[in-house]
Amino acid sequence: MLSNKETKFIVVTGGVLSGLGKGIAAASIGHLLSSKLKIIPMKLDGYLNTDPGTMNPIEHGEVFVLDDGGEVDMDFGHYERFLDVTCKFEWNLTMGKIFSEIREKERRGDYLGKTVQYIPHVVDLIKSKFQEVAKKEKADILLIEVGGTVGDMENELYIEAVRQLRAEVGEKNVMYVHLTYVPVPSGVNEQKSKPTQQSVNLLRQRGIKPDVIIARCSEYLDQSIKRKIAIFCDVDEDAVITGIDVDDVYKIPLIFEKQGLSEIIHKKLGIYSPPDLRVWETLLQNLEGLDKQITIAICGKYTKLEDSYASIIEALMHCSAHTKHRINLRWIETTDIEEGKLPVRKALEGADGVIVPGGFGSRGTEGKIEVIRYVRENGIPFLGICFGLQIAVIEYARNVCGLKGANSTEIDPKTEHPVVDIMPEQKDIDKKGGTMRLGAYKAVIRPGTLAYDLYNSEVVWERHRHRYEVNPAYHEALAEGGLVISGASEDQRLAEFIELECGHSAGEDTSSILQPKSRTFGKHPYFIATQAHPELKSKLSEPAPLFFGLTKAAIALKELKKPN
Ligand code: GLN
Repeated sequence: MLSNKETKFIVVTGGVLSGLGKGIAAASIGHLLSSKLKIIPMKLDGYLNTDPGTMNPIEHGEVFVLDDGGEVDMDFGHYERFLDVTCKFEWNLTMGKIFSEIREKERRGDYLGKTVQYIPHVVDLIKSKFQEVAKKEKADILLIEVGGTVGDMENELYIEAVRQLRAEVGEKNVMYVHLTYVPVPSGVNEQKSKPTQQSVNLLRQRGIKPDVIIARCSEYLDQSIKRKIAIFCDVDEDAVITGIDVDDVYKIPLIFEKQGLSEIIHKKLGIYSPPDLRVWETLLQNLEGLDKQITIAICGKYTKLEDSYASIIEALMHCSAHTKHRINLRWIETTDIEEGKLPVRKALEGADGVIVPGGFGSRGTEGKIEVIRYVRENGIPFLGICFGLQIAVIEYARNVCGLKGANSTEIDPKTEHPVVDIMPEQKDIDKKGGTMRLGAYKAVIRPGTLAYDLYNSEVVWERHRHRYEVNPAYHEALAEGGLVISGASEDQRLAEFIELECGHSAGEDTSSILQPKSRTFGKHPYFIATQAHPELKSKLSEPAPLFFGLTKAAIALKELKKPN
C-alpha cells in the first residue's frame, strides 16, 4: 500500500491496429508492479452492448465470467492470471453501461435544467467511475486499458476522460503508455517507425503525450529506430520498449523488465515496488526445449477462432509448465464428425486426452456424442466442461442406461428423455443478457471420488455460465447405470461434477497417476466432467485441478503404452 494513500493511474492506449496485445501489455505492466502494490485493472470498451455476454464467441472471442457473475471481455482473464486479483464486473466499463446510466440519471432528474451532453456529462461519469473503483478497492494503482485503437470514433469519450484525468489527479500521479506497431516489411527488411509516429500524433492531437511507447515488433528495435521514435514522439529514448513477438505471453513481463520498464514507471510515479519474477521464471524455464509431448483434442464448434477457447488454452499451458510436457492442441470441429466428413476414430487417432468444452445450440452435438462414446469405450482420458458435461450425460443415458433418444431440451425440446433440462428458475426468463446462472457457486464433493482427489476438498467454488442442468428426475437412473455424481450443489439438486469410476481407491492421492507402472487403471483411467468452467480460475502457478488431472492421466497412459 502506498503510504500517502493516493491512487496512481496508469493508462494504456493502443495505436496503428487492433490485436497487438494491449491487454497482455497492460497485464504485464501490472504484474511488474504487483509484488508490493495493489493493482486494480479497468477496461474501457466502446461498444453499446452492456457486456459481451450476448456476443457470438466467433466474433468477440471468449466471454470471461467473474466470481460475481459479470460477463466481461477476455482481457480480464489476463488480468486475473497476471495480477492474481479477483476482478469485478464494475471494473469493465462499456459504452452500453455508461449510456444507460446517463439515461437513467436524466430521467431521474439528476441533470434537471441542463442539456445533457457528451462533455461534460458522459466524460464526467466515466471519470467518476475511475475514482469510485480506486476508492472502493483502495487501489495503489488503477491500471486503465482503453479499448480499441486511437482514432476510433467509439473510444473518443474514453480518450477524453483519461486526458482530463491528468488535470484532476495531477501530472505526477498519472502516466500514459501507448502500444504501437513497428512493421518490418518483407523485401524492405527495415524497421519502420512511421505508423508509430502517426498514431502518437493522433494521441497528441487529443491532448495526451505518452510517457512510454511499447512497440510491438517481430524483432528487437534498433537503437537508431528508438532514437527516431523518441525524437518524433517526444519521449525518452529508454522509454521506447520493444514488445517482441513471443510464443508465450507469460514471457512479456520478463521481456519488459529486461528493458527497464518498472524503473521508468517507478521514477515517473514516485513509487517503488521491485518486481518478483522468480516463480514465473522457473515455470517458464520448464517450457523451454520440451522433448516429451502429448496431444489433447479439443472437440467443439467454435474451433475456427481459437480465442473462443482462450482460457482452456491457458489452463493447458499452465499444466504444461508443471508437467514439463509440450501439449499439442488438436482442434476438431464436431460438425464434421456429425456430417460424416470425419470419422471419429480418425479424428481422435493419437490423441492422448480429449476435452469437450462449453457450447450452445444443437449444431455439432451429435458429433460430440460420438466423440464421448469413443473416449468412454476406448479409455481415452476425458474432460467435459459445462455443455461437455451435459453431452456426456446424454451419451451415457442413451448408450449405457438404455434411455433411447435421451437429449437436452436445448437440442430437442420434444425429447422422450429430457436428461438435461432448463433450470426451473430459468423458465420464465425471456431476456437474454446476464440472465444465465452466472458466477461462482459452491459445490459439495463426495469423498472417495476422483473429483475429491483432484481438489482435495469437500467444498469447491467454480464459475458457471449456463441455463440447463442435468435433470434431477434422472439422477437415480444415471447412478444406477454407473454414472457417479461426484459433486452437487448444497441442496443436491444440481449435478456439478460427474465421473466414471476409475482405478482410484478412495482417498488415494491423484499424483499416483504419475506413476503408471505401479498401478493399473480401473474402469476408465480418467473420465470426469463439470457443469462449471474451471479453466477460468487456472493460474500459471496453480493449474486448474481437472485440467491438471487430465494432463497427468494422458501422460501416464502414454508412458504405459510405450514398449519397454
Ligand atoms: N448450453 C448449455 C447451457 O446453457 C451449456 C452452456 C455452456 O457450455 N457454457 O446450459
